[in-house]
Amino acid sequence: MSVKFGANLLERSEEQGNYSIAKKEWSVTGIIIDYFTDFDNNEDLMGRCELCGKESLRWHYEIENTKNGDRMYVGSKCIKQFDIPYYDEQGCELSGDEKDKRLAALLANKKRNIENDEVIHNLRGLYRKDKKYREYIKSAAEYYKAKNGFKALQLATIFWRFTEHQIDVDKKKYKVRIKSNEEKSQIREIPAWRLQNIIPSLNPKQRALCHYIRQEKQVA
Ligand SMILES: [Zn+2]
Repeated sequence: MSVKFGANLLERSEEQGNYSIAKKEWSVTGIIIDYFTDFDNNEDLMGRCELCGKESLRWHYEIENTKNGDRMYVGSKCIKQFDIPYYDEQGCELSGDEKDKRLAALLANKKRNIENDEVIHNLRGLYRKDKKYREYIKSAAEYYKAKNGFKALQLATIFWRFTEHQIDVDKKKYKVRIKSNEEKSQIREIPAWRLQNIIPSLNPKQRALCHYIRQEKQVA
């Protein structure tokens, strides 16, 4: 451990000398900042981890000093390396694998929210432009929010409308659900050219499932 280890944290703690004591004043708040989207690019922070000083990091865990209310933003490596305490809902300090798992879950959740925001944002844009399909777009958006995925036919229609209105979207971010019987039986009915349109949104398992369901149809 270098002499400077944790100097930035010590400076902002009540305890000024001993890192192990000072770090106990701090805890992970559960908030993650995405430097790319949550901060303006001209922000002073430059995506800098406030513990090690490394710049241009995308993801920052927020930590808070429970004694003086100060907050710092820390990269995903340092949050582990500097062993900042993280308490569960009952106030027990997490450790080892459990702590790593929770930290990873926070990040996964943040990423998922950003993706959802982008999908909803694009649907709103489409809703404003596409007067003829408004009700359809609205109900697809509600389905997506409730189920965290679209029905195949729904998504094929939405993609068609995006194209009509020249809205570019990243198809990989639009999740399809093929779980309920209704969602499965749709796969049989949907015209091939429309299904083709949503292939980039399907994961490998779903692609195989689609293939299987459609072959079943031909046999029957
Ligand atoms: Zn760092």
